[in-house]
Amino acid sequence: MGSQRSVLVRGGMVVPMAARGEWLQADVHVKDGRVAAVAPGLDPEPGCEVLDAGDALVLPGFVQAHVHVVQSLARHRAEGLPLLRWLKERIWPYEAALRPSEVAAAARLGIAELLTGGTTSALDMGTTHDQDAVFSAAAELGIRLTSGKCHMDTGNGVPTGLIEDREESLAQAEALGSRWHGAASGRLRYAVAPRFVLSCSPELLAGAVALARSRGYLLHTHASENAQETRAVRELTGRGNVEFLADVGIAGPDTVLAHCVHLDEGEVRLLAERQTGVAHCPGANLKLGSGIADVPRLLRHGVRIGLGADGPPCNNRLSIFHEMALAGTLHNLAHGPGAVDAWTVLEMATWRGAQVLGLGDEVGRLLPGWKGDLVVLSCDGLAMEPAADPAAMGVFGGGVESVRHGVVDGSVVVRDGELATADVGMIRREARGAAEGLTRRLGWS
Ligand SMILES: [Zn+2]
Repeated sequence: MGSQRSVLVRGGMVVPMAARGEWLQADVHVKDGRVAAVAPGLDPEPGCEVLDAGDALVLPGFVQAHVHVVQSLARHRAEGLPLLRWLKERIWPYEAALRPSEVAAAARLGIAELLTGGTTSALDMGTTHDQDAVFSAAAELGIRLTSGKCHMDTGNGVPTGLIEDREESLAQAEALGSRWHGAASGRLRYAVAPRFVLSCSPELLAGAVALARSRGYLLHTHASENAQETRAVRELTGRGNVEFLADVGIAGPDTVLAHCVHLDEGEVRLLAERQTGVAHCPGANLKLGSGIADVPRLLRHGVRIGLGADGPPCNNRLSIFHEMALAGTLHNLAHGPGAVDAWTVLEMATWRGAQVLGLGDEVGRLLPGWKGDLVVLSCDGLAMEPAADPAAMGVFGGGVESVRHGVVDGSVVVRDGELATADVGMIRREARGAAEGLTRRLGWS
């Protein structure tokens, strides 16, 4: 990688996210994958690449706690539906139809969008098959990705192409974890990902828990996203969704539940007591009309929360800026202005998100010794003027167009607004071609 192993980010307004309201004019030196120094007036060592951060904010790279890059080719093709119909009529048939080359094209598009939008780490859920293609794309493009194949062995409306044999499904996850957990110098990690209660038998959930705990992998699933889904889980199990999951072992600091919109008081307490991670996905929750997770209440109880864009067909973008702006405004409806202030939003997009992913001691802050993951946000945009509090600027004035540079694990992944690790024109052409083929096969055109 040559010069990419030593990078000097020069002349920026650095927001280390070590303490709220703290920032400094400084340079950041990243060497051998880690932050070596944050200080003014650093000199580049020989062979070091210098990235200009003049008139820019330098932040820890953004973290998303719930995405599905494999769904990228269904973007703009699953409009106007509530969750269960969106899954049954569009997303499940799409996932069942995906061929290996299409999984690769979808993953490359989604990961390229994440990186050029300033997201350097993500927790991702794949589909039931061809998960190697997702990890290969992540290895190539340079993102820090925790991902896993999804598990489904039952459920109303699930196409036969996605219904798996339980033992075979778990054996595949075990083999995938052996191949990819810790790969790319630790950038890639495995997560065991049963889709949701309605598509998993209790035996499959128990097997998923046993596998994750025996290997030290994260557990990642969806819970209490939509009222109809939450009701169906109660009819099936006699318990609240989060309560049922905790009873089968899907709870704790190694567990991430996407959504958590429809919770009773006991479930909020349970999330806090068990230190279970929650991925707040306001963009997807609004698009599918699912509801609004009560984030101020969860924060008050001490629940660990990150942000996620969820799938491209339910958002329709993978922009952390869209999720941050929503998280910083949406909760004002129920709780009044400032319900979740800009610093708290920025924390959810950085170290709080990293904590949810189990990376909280080395990702999500810009401090010496921490992972060399950062983003440089240009203040050229007129919505950034006039400069003031950097959290307000980044959360409400920034957008994916603000991303000037991105560094992951000490390597430059975005340089001057362009993906540095692959040809975006090629990614775009592959995605278009694959989406056309899929649309034709699915009879969607
Ligand atoms: Zn999801």
